[in-house]
Amino acid sequence: MAVRKIVTIGNPILRQKASPVGKITKAEKQIIDDMFETMGVNEGVGLAAPQIGIPKRIIVAQWEGEKYAIVNPKIEWRSDEMVIGTEGCLSIPGVQANVNRHLKIRVRGVDGEGKTVILEPEGWLARIFQHEIDHLDGILIIDRSDELFWIVTEEDESGRERTRLVPTTKSAIIAAFQKHKAPARR
Ligand code: ZN
Repeated sequence: MAVRKIVTIGNPILRQKASPVGKITKAEKQIIDDMFETMGVNEGVGLAAPQIGIPKRIIVAQWEGEKYAIVNPKIEWRSDEMVIGTEGCLSIPGVQANVNRHLKIRVRGVDGEGKTVILEPEGWLARIFQHEIDHLDGILIIDRSDELFWIVTEEDESGRERTRLVPTTKSAIIAAFQKHKAPARR
């Protein structure tokens, strides 16, 4: 197993549609293992393969002690009921978004052994799956929300760290990461 580098916004792979996986071989099992390890180290609850630079339809999630790996996940059904929740994304560090998601969904795919899995998650797990499956289609939380914030950590007079949310916009976030990444010019 290996911890992989997480790619951040500005990398075009995050905007591509990921390819379906054919047969699950040793290579895919290795990717899944690495995704679990990378998610764990970064204290994430979900991760999609494009986030480690692999444009394949594979997601992992970890919620309430359960681990999930789904290859070629498809949302077959969505509840009419929606719910707003606050999300972050390992590929957009320092940003928080209020995102409207379906409360309940049905997901079909195959697990790391190639066996069919059908799940009907609700609430946060349903949210995690919707977020990760969006990654497979090149969609990010900044596309799904008008309530975006920078998470700013500051020290107050007594030296205590405080977190403050500063409202921002999609274009400001894209510009900030672009700037950060821009190669030095001569
Ligand atoms: Zn994400």
